[in-house]
Amino acid sequence: MRALSLSVLLCLLSAAVLAQPAGRGGPGQTPPDHYVLVHAGTLLAIPGVRPQTKMTVVIRNDRITAIENGYLTAVSDAAPGSVLQVVDLSDRFVLPGLMDAHVHLWHEPAFSRHRAERGDRHPSWPGVPATGAEGAVNAMVFARRNLAAGFTTLRDLGSDDQSVFAVRNAIDAGRMIGPRILVAGSAVAVTGGHGDSTPMDRTGDDMTRLVNATCDGPTECRKAVRYQYKLGADVIKFTSTGGFGSNTGLEPQLFPDEIQAVVATAHLVGLKAAAHAYSPIAIKDAVRAGVDSIEHGFLLDDEGIAMMKKAGTFLVPTLSASYPPPIFRIPDPPSVRLRNEYRAFERAYAAGLKIAFGTDAGTFTHGTNAKEFELMVGFGMTPMDAIRSATVMTAELFGISAEAGTLEAGKLADLVAVKGNPLENIAVLGKIDFVMKSGRIAKQDGRMTEPFSYPAFLE
Ligand SMILES: [Zn+2]
Repeated sequence: MRALSLSVLLCLLSAAVLAQPAGRGGPGQTPPDHYVLVHAGTLLAIPGVRPQTKMTVVIRNDRITAIENGYLTAVSDAAPGSVLQVVDLSDRFVLPGLMDAHVHLWHEPAFSRHRAERGDRHPSWPGVPATGAEGAVNAMVFARRNLAAGFTTLRDLGSDDQSVFAVRNAIDAGRMIGPRILVAGSAVAVTGGHGDSTPMDRTGDDMTRLVNATCDGPTECRKAVRYQYKLGADVIKFTSTGGFGSNTGLEPQLFPDEIQAVVATAHLVGLKAAAHAYSPIAIKDAVRAGVDSIEHGFLLDDEGIAMMKKAGTFLVPTLSASYPPPIFRIPDPPSVRLRNEYRAFERAYAAGLKIAFGTDAGTFTHGTNAKEFELMVGFGMTPMDAIRSATVMTAELFGISAEAGTLEAGKLADLVAVKGNPLENIAVLGKIDFVMKSGRIAKQDGRMTEPFSYPAFLE
């Protein structure tokens, strides 16, 4: 454990609380309660509601028990043996932990030129892992980097059938520091479609198709969803149109009955369904099928906006995905032209659609997700709404509003802090200084509390 800094005063409470030994570790004994009093100079407890100054967030173990005016230094009703920690963020802006609804944790673009080596299984494009084991190691590193950037909850919308499940489980079991992750597993795709990752010479192999969630026709697509569910998926992702990343065009690739099969099967087993969709036809097919979110939606038209508004469908804009990283060396990217031509984000925002923050991190460097905030605000969203999209709205989309998204008594203690005021300068969210997830401090004074990996090479 690193030396205590001035901003942390780890102290045991007064005589009353010290009256009994903690009794940690004895058989049948529960560990002592751990209280943290976070002194917030400015506290945005509920994005959308004006922030307050000089507040204390009272945390017992993993949850918030109260939000109090002024700086508390003791907890009156703490059980004997409880441990109390005061965290001084009186010169910081404190807000709920951020959430990204669209990441791919098993990869990011590789920065070195690819060279075949012994033991190299020729990944399909630089950065994509050749095996589930490599994907899991990547996901460990990238999950942590997202957490360091202030993202305490992530939704992984398509890696493979192994990597991110393993990392989610290790984090949930407390074996390593990391964000809460909702996992889609393999994205459901049709043969030859965007996201079909079966190898060219083995597309007829049933098991290869299943682990890659490649399906054709309603029956196969039901099975593909059920297989990801069996693996432990938290959400189902399907790629209903081509995409910039696969050179398969931008038009529909699934028939309406295939889309209906995917969405209905996901809902049947209690999962939400997310549609990667560019073409307005595919967007409308997905909305008719009751999909929960449209991912990207770059070619969204007015009819689609009206349908999404009526159905309450979320848009996850992934503006960052329109700007390919320099590594791809694409001059005049068509993604940028389409974005500027259709202005889907601006029109969706003006129409009052539900917008959930999502970036497509993994198609660019993990940990730089906050650039999306600057894009959103640059295209006309208020900073408050941008923060709301990454907290209140993502929590609603994920179905975890009772647990996260705001700082209120009873919710998980997920919070971050920055110097400066993001409501005045949204760019400060790119420099998250303090991160707490479920009551545990992961980052303090700009440094992760436990070393794990080298810093990222950022663009
Ligand atoms: Zn994506």
